Amino acid sequence: MTTGVQEDVKWLVDNLNFKQKVDRSLGLIEAARDKYGDGLVVANSLGKDSVAVWHLAKRVDSKIRGFIVTTRFKPAETVRFMEEEVARYPELKVYRNDEPVEPELYKTQPDRCCDLLKVIPTRQAIEDMKVTCWVTGLRCTEGRTRVDFQELEQRDEGLLKLNPILIWHEREIWQYLALNQVPVNPLYAEGYRSLGCAPCTRITNDANERAGRWIGTSKCGGECGIHTKPLLDYQI
Ligand code: SF4
Repeated sequence: MTTGVQEDVKWLVDNLNFKQKVDRSLGLIEAARDKYGDGLVVANSLGKDSVAVWHLAKRVDSKIRGFIVTTRFKPAETVRFMEEEVARYPELKVYRNDEPVEPELYKTQPDRCCDLLKVIPTRQAIEDMKVTCWVTGLRCTEGRTRVDFQELEQRDEGLLKLNPILIWHEREIWQYLALNQVPVNPLYAEGYRSLGCAPCTRITNDANERAGRWIGTSKCGGECGIHTKPLLDYQI
């Protein structure tokens, strides 16, 4: 496994079939587990992509650990689903920043709100669990902000990021979850396609899967920040 391999990600998205993608993802996780051992940890956001990655990781090695970053603004359904997941998998640790923030910071400064409530606890999880390679459910077909990622990336010294389902389509995620009967957040049944905090997530019919995120702000359809900046080395 090397960091600089420039495979044609788009070619892989379009030309591998479902089974080839599953096998590729399992192979990437297995290679990373062999290399990083207990330092390999899955970031589980409780969305459909995360629960697929978590299921894949558990097929590779049932001892792989994970962490969930939650906030005071998560919908009640997500909180309940989180409690069920943690009961099923006690090796999932939950991180949350409870420090006071300005009321409606998510409206006035959503980037700052995400930095405080999402980036800080993610950083804390990485440090606390001594993570050397974190595994995400990021997909390059998910929206305009996710087209340039690679399966293996490094933004911080000593910390690799593995995106093992980078080349999967949304449809293939649902295919995998259905075939393996993986439980999902009940909010998907309401019509959501991408889940986040309640004030910043809407149901839309837009072709862009992340179009319902941060509607009405400069972040619309965008990112919370954990995937776009160095995680450990920037000033909040
Ligand atoms: S998604 Fe919205 S409420 Fe949640 S941390 Fe980001 S700005 Fe704040």
